[in-house]
Amino acid sequence: MTVDSQLLVERARKGDAAALEALLASVAPAVHRFGLRMCKNAPDAEDALQDTLLAIATHLGEFEGRSSLLSWVFALTRSACARRRRGLKNQAMASDDGVPEPQDDAPSPEQRASDHELAGAVGRALDALPEDYREVIVLRDIEGLSAPHAAAALGVSVDAVKSRLHRAREALRDLLRPVLEPQVPKTAAGCPDVVALWSKKLEGDLSQGDCAAMEAHLETCPSCGAACSALKDALLACQRSASAAVRPEVQARVKAAVRAWAALGK
Ligand SMILES: [Zn+2]
Repeated sequence: MTVDSQLLVERARKGDAAALEALLASVAPAVHRFGLRMCKNAPDAEDALQDTLLAIATHLGEFEGRSSLLSWVFALTRSACARRRRGLKNQAMASDDGVPEPQDDAPSPEQRASDHELAGAVGRALDALPEDYREVIVLRDIEGLSAPHAAAALGVSVDAVKSRLHRAREALRDLLRPVLEPQVPKTAAGCPDVVALWSKKLEGDLSQGDCAAMEAHLETCPSCGAACSALKDALLACQRSASAAVRPEVQARVKAAVRAWAALGK
């Protein structure tokens, strides 16, 4: 937790509404993105956002600061989303409904079109993943939580987060294969599982020797090279989706949550 958010938490706990508003505003975009991904539709995501912000406001006194603020916030968001999703499981949703678009600095129109296409494809692939895979990718690869912080948010061990993450990234890459590696020949029988190795490398769990061996193989094997770039592109698109501008409805929800909290008499 940064010094800033620590100060905000302390002031908000003492009843400072401006500090609470600033604190909620700082976490609201991430909560909203998580809700959009997990609820898969905008109205439920907004309701989950509202529920979560109010839960943060009312339970701030119980936050002990041992876990990171974001771990605690995402744990609350998960319960809010789970409540919203109950009973909606079989309802089909437009896959990229309400998903924020990546924000670009100044890309060319061609670049923008292909980024947009990739973002759309990645969004649809994320939606097609099993919930526990999607959730771990959102926390780790979109919101950038460390593995221990993601583990705290999900209430599982760091090892469990990592193995789930490796499987989730492999599943994501498989789903994106037709888009990102359309004409790539199949990997040879002797090829290592480079996607799994790459995912381990990202978690700092690949030994130097194994890493060197992987890099050497990537240089000589076009199939594995393509598989790795596909995963890198997909994860980059995930990261970029987190930098989208804050939507007005998110800001409105922050103000509504602060008003509701004030009405509760703190
Ligand atoms: Zn290979």
